[in-house]
Amino acid sequence: MQENIIVVAKQASDQASPSWQQQLSHAIRDPRALCERLGLSHDWLTGAQIGHELFKVCVPEAYLSRIAYADINDPLLRQVIPLGEEAHTPQGYVVDPLKEADHQPAKGLIHKYAGRVLLIASPTCAINCRYCFRRHFPYSDNSPSRAQWQEALDYLRHDITIHEVILSGGDPLAASDRQLAWLVAQLEGIQHLTRLRIHTRLPVVIPDRVDDALLGWLASTRFQKVVVLHINHANEIDQAVIDACARLKQAGVTLLNQSVLLRDVNDDVTTLATLSERLFEAGILPYYLHVLDPVQGAAHFDISDEEARALVAALRNHLPGFLMPRLVREIPGKASKTPL
Ligand SMILES: *Cc1c(COP(=O)(O)O)cnc(C)c1O
Ligand code: SF4
Repeated sequence: MQENIIVVAKQASDQASPSWQQQLSHAIRDPRALCERLGLSHDWLTGAQIGHELFKVCVPEAYLSRIAYADINDPLLRQVIPLGEEAHTPQGYVVDPLKEADHQPAKGLIHKYAGRVLLIASPTCAINCRYCFRRHFPYSDNSPSRAQWQEALDYLRHDITIHEVILSGGDPLAASDRQLAWLVAQLEGIQHLTRLRIHTRLPVVIPDRVDDALLGWLASTRFQKVVVLHINHANEIDQAVIDACARLKQAGVTLLNQSVLLRDVNDDVTTLATLSERLFEAGILPYYLHVLDPVQGAAHFDISDEEARALVAALRNHLPGFLMPRLVREIPGKASKTPL
């Protein structure tokens, strides 16, 4: 009898799609496996191994499935494949381009701007984006336990000018829902906090991350909720992403998107216009278009400020105003992102 139950349960789990945790644990984390999975010639492997030593490969299948086979120029592939160029260290490209280490009054908390703080809610991501400004971030020093969060929570309790908490990372949604629900419950106890913002790429990378457990705590919090997604190219938005966005909206979330302007990924007007249109079809409004932060290993993605301005000026001739992202740069020491 017992055996029958186990057999039935096993069949059910074979048929159900794997959980987001399983999908994440099965992500490709090896340059050779990545090249083989995507049918890339061995010419790319040496560079991929060099880049991988500097910042590990990580790409889940749900994201790989949107990448064309055997096409080194695929705009999604460019974001995740390590290249030999990452070993170049031109002047001005540094390990901590945003000087975040100067703005950490408590473990896991970054307070740079008035009225809002950023909490590093998870040290890891579901994907490793080669251009990421946090590729050298000392995450092991910044993933507080429950006891260690007390310092950050005390800081928030004592500063009544703070109204908004931004969960960031890494990717905050790489943390378990149990952990996140606990942290959000602590934040709800602080009366002057009114808004919860989540900066995440996970609903795009593994759309199954937007499951009942996540939607449960999200829908029930007293906070106004904003999710800022990170999508750089229209090809990232497939039906599963559209469905995940619809679930988030149903839970009362406002959806925004930030992109990074990246050479050979999205540095032309048609690509950017198509991205904004496709975002809106998925119920997402464009928010920021960031120029690259000068982080070591990412110089080959750079677009000059002049090129960026020209692109955005041309983009304005293609889109309604509400689909225009704001072109910004983050300059250490400034009180906000800086419009270009
Ligand atoms: C980008 C950022 C924010 C959010 O800035 P907004 O302009 O409100 O989107 C907040 N804190 C830190 C440390 C940031 O880097
Ligand atoms: S923090 Fe965002 S951009 Fe950086 S690797 Fe993680 S998901 Fe990619």
